[in-house]
Amino acid sequence: MSWKKHNIWENSRLKSVLESNRLAQAYLFLGQDQQKKIWTAMSLAKSLFCSLDGADFCDQCPSCKKIEHHNHPDILWLRPVGASRTIKINTVRHLQSVFALKSFVGGKKLAFIIGADRMQEQAANALLKIIEEPQGNSLIVLMAENIEKLLPTIISRCQQIFFPLSPVEHIKEYLQTQFNADPEKAEFISVLSKGNFSLANRFFDDERRQWRDFVVTAVYDFFNDKSDVFAIVSHICSTIDGLVKKTISSDTSYCANEIGVSQHEAEELLSDMDKKALEKNILNQEVYEFFQFVEISFRDILIFQHAQDKKYMTNIDKISFIKKISKQYSDKVFYSLIDDVHNAYYSFCGNTKLEFVLEVFFLKLLNVVKAVS
Ligand SMILES: [Zn+2]
Repeated sequence: MSWKKHNIWENSRLKSVLESNRLAQAYLFLGQDQQKKIWTAMSLAKSLFCSLDGADFCDQCPSCKKIEHHNHPDILWLRPVGASRTIKINTVRHLQSVFALKSFVGGKKLAFIIGADRMQEQAANALLKIIEEPQGNSLIVLMAENIEKLLPTIISRCQQIFFPLSPVEHIKEYLQTQFNADPEKAEFISVLSKGNFSLANRFFDDERRQWRDFVVTAVYDFFNDKSDVFAIVSHICSTIDGLVKKTISSDTSYCANEIGVSQHEAEELLSDMDKKALEKNILNQEVYEFFQFVEISFRDILIFQHAQDKKYMTNIDKISFIKKISKQYSDKVFYSLIDDVHNAYYSFCGNTKLEFVLEVFFLKLLNVVKAVS
């Protein structure tokens, strides 16, 4: 019954191997939605350890509860850690030593590796050995977004399962049942998250939604000719800075929990160099998301121009702006602006200061708007 929760039981392949007891020793879960892969991994573990027979699980027995709370002695959850956000050789050695021990409950040993596409070379080679020569009754599940970042020799030894994005209705239902979200809010977030449960969780945060709203409104305001480039850039930079600090703090408390020290001690453990690398990593993610918001703003106008269908659009709360702008400018303008978005992001990745990248980008946008109007 519980596989039906959040509608993740759509993967008939996994269901049929579980029901016929033909589970492989290594799986590769591929797809953009981290949350969905983790739920599936969790359900897979429960169905293997639960006292209920068959592929199902009860969610109530001690095994199911331990798995839910990540403290089942025969299950390892591994993920990228540290400033570089990678999986290091020590993590894989830990896996190796746990797999070498006898299982506590006399069943399987499971390892779930989140972010397997962020593995250092040495770690990947060590993991390959474990997968090549599996010890006893073990199961390894790798979760990844980018298959290109995995060793081909690892890929070829895993059964691949692809996780597509989910129908928007599933996300809406999840938000309503899980967070008691009102129907209107659930509908809006489900559209924003485009079938991705991880994104839905992210956008459930009010601050994150306000940030998206600010960016999209700022972009559309340019077409109303009422924008002060330098004020906008300064606001964007300070907001991104705040978001980076917030993520670092919640991230450090997560790591502190993992290694059992206080948040203050965890911060002390990070060297200055680690701190810089961590900040850079998180800044990159935030800037990437910012440019995604901008790109989607232009893409929505193109969609409206060509299809005039809200179904394919993201910023449905801005439909009146979109309608107006789409009538005033040709689609060529937006194709070229999307190129500008990509170039701005590449320029940031090439170590140009964010403030400068944004000034150049928004001044260009201002010129495009003025040239047409
Ligand atoms: Zn159970």
